[in-house]
Amino acid sequence: MRFVSKETFSHKYLTTTKIVGNMKDKLVRSAFLDSLKLDPINLVVATQVHSTNVRIVDASNKGAVVDDCDGMITTNKELMLGIYTADCVPLLVSAENEELKAAVHVGWRGLYDGIIENTFELLKDGFCVNLGKVKVFIGPHIRSCCYEVNREVKDKFGTKLNDKLDLSEIICSKLSKFGITDIFDVKLCTFHMEDLFFSYRRTKCVERIMSVIM
Ligand SMILES: [Zn+2]
Repeated sequence: MRFVSKETFSHKYLTTTKIVGNMKDKLVRSAFLDSLKLDPINLVVATQVHSTNVRIVDASNKGAVVDDCDGMITTNKELMLGIYTADCVPLLVSAENEELKAAVHVGWRGLYDGIIENTFELLKDGFCVNLGKVKVFIGPHIRSCCYEVNREVKDKFGTKLNDKLDLSEIICSKLSKFGITDIFDVKLCTFHMEDLFFSYRRTKCVERIMSVIM
């Protein structure tokens, strides 16, 4: 399996696997995008600093890394928004308005600090999006089967009984508060599916898969 993908409204969601290599490597990434007849110049990515910052991006960001943020929203049809991960959650959003899409990097810190709230409040208040109609994709990440966390993290999220953190469950519960129910979770775990994914926790790797909304 080279990638997982799903079409929706007029958008397409896609997550690579390690079979196609390290997406942070420009040559590898360009070769992959070329193989799908996608132009690498249209890709916009975030610096991903575990912040709660969400930026609105446009044609001026083509081919760029957007500074100091973990979330991006655009109304530019040509742009592909990309998130690099190796255990964190890539979360992609497709709005019924065919021009509007978003991509967010969600680790435990951003999740706790409010990146989900910032993203959807901006979509609702800044773009008048009917959140009851958006589609959300939750890509491969370290899942509750494998994600043991320390006391500090457990206390923040109030995890009961066991030491595992369920990022997707917390995300879905936050999304439901915004009235979002149309969620496609690929349900793949980056930690134990080592033939398919890079896992920072497993190998302290520098390689990353990439999730894109286009
Ligand atoms: Zn697992």
